[in-house]
Amino acid sequence: MKKRRGRFVARIDALVKSGVVNREGFYTLGGRLAIDFANSYKRVGRDREGISSFEDLLTFMKSHHLLHEDEASDLHMFHFQNPARCQKVVETLVDLRHTFRKVLTDVAEGWPVSTDFFEDINRRLADFKSYHKVQPTEAGMELKTVIDENGPEKLMFPIIHDIADFLTSDHVEKTRACAGDDCDLYFVNQSRNGRRRWCSMSTCGNRAKVNAYLKRQEA
Ligand SMILES: [Zn+2]
Repeated sequence: MKKRRGRFVARIDALVKSGVVNREGFYTLGGRLAIDFANSYKRVGRDREGISSFEDLLTFMKSHHLLHEDEASDLHMFHFQNPARCQKVVETLVDLRHTFRKVLTDVAEGWPVSTDFFEDINRRLADFKSYHKVQPTEAGMELKTVIDENGPEKLMFPIIHDIADFLTSDHVEKTRACAGDDCDLYFVNQSRNGRRRWCSMSTCGNRAKVNAYLKRQEA
């Protein structure tokens, strides 16, 4: 068991190093939050849904640097007091991810984004009240948009906002589905020659190379 665990840690280390996943096993190869979120249904080291509990959602947010430790512990307390409201947030996000993945399948095949999806995103954006605030950062002062919501629903904002931002960007036409068998990961193709076919060279790309090699050996 100990040996297996050691091998697993080594594998995660290698994948983290090549930018495929973060320490928590969530994929980071999408090119932006919206796509990493779309890919969050799988997680390296786990055979079930990547975000199946509120705890998983907090881990996803923290590992993508969207949530500070102190905010996370406030939300932990919130979960303790009101698990149903937190579970609702998880379910809403998993539903949204399901719909968004269908949109990505369409755009990767060259179809436009449906009006229904734009309307859905607009409705979700309208649920958030926000205000602006100047605050100090490591690099100086910064104008930040703050969401006027302290409950677990605030976790949805950065994700919905980045999906909206994605829809208005040229990343839509650069969206690709990995060419690997049974992979189902999406990414924004920003390679200079535009030829990226795999979610990553360290996983699907390498597997394809090995398979092609074995095929040549057989012939
Ligand atoms: Zn892949």
